[in-house]
Amino acid sequence: GYRSRAAYKLKEIDEEMQLIRPGQLVVDLGAAPGAWSQYVRRKFAGAGAAAGELDGTIIALDLLDFEPIEGVTFIQGDFREDSVLERLKEAVGGRPVDVVVSDMAPNLSGIEVSDAARIAHLVELAVEFAQAHLKPEGALVCKVFHGSGYSQLVELFKRTFRMVKAIKPKASRDRSAETFLVGRGLKRVG
Ligand code: SAM
Repeated sequence: GYRSRAAYKLKEIDEEMQLIRPGQLVVDLGAAPGAWSQYVRRKFAGAGAAAGELDGTIIALDLLDFEPIEGVTFIQGDFREDSVLERLKEAVGGRPVDVVVSDMAPNLSGIEVSDAARIAHLVELAVEFAQAHLKPEGALVCKVFHGSGYSQLVELFKRTFRMVKAIKPKASRDRSAETFLVGRGLKRVG
């Protein structure tokens, strides 16, 4: 089993888009309690990996600590802080990243404009990180919410990636406004 049902959302997205493969470097943003990292880890522990070894690298980041997952590098901190971003960059160590996944969600206030701004800010930072670190054919998966600000985030993805798709996994409750944007293939900055 997984630590959270959230794993099934990434599983559905991955099964549709074929994003996660052994040998990759994957960055998991907003990773606690660790279900997405567990899902990626299982894919890395398959055929090509020697017993007990992982064929692939996972770097996870969250505000909150969680029970360690063997082979997953964890950075605790706020992704919006420069010092935390620096630690993440150090862990990446200049290697090109295959996939960035972000399930980060801010604490919502219920005030639509400020919530939309908080969500947009996290997505914008994830897109910036992806632009700086992804391989040219790499992919970014980001949780977003329908409602105010959604179409601007789709536009941001379309400016950044050659292929953009919005996926609402069945494992996301119907009533929840969450959707996942998948961007693949960085557009060249002109
Ligand atoms: N994908 C995770 C899993 O499968 O276990 C679940 C992630 S949970 C829905 C969202 C996470 O985003 C929370 O653990 C929260 O602490 C984290 N988060 C929200 N804002 C953040 C920020 N600014 N920096 C880092 N993590 C953040």
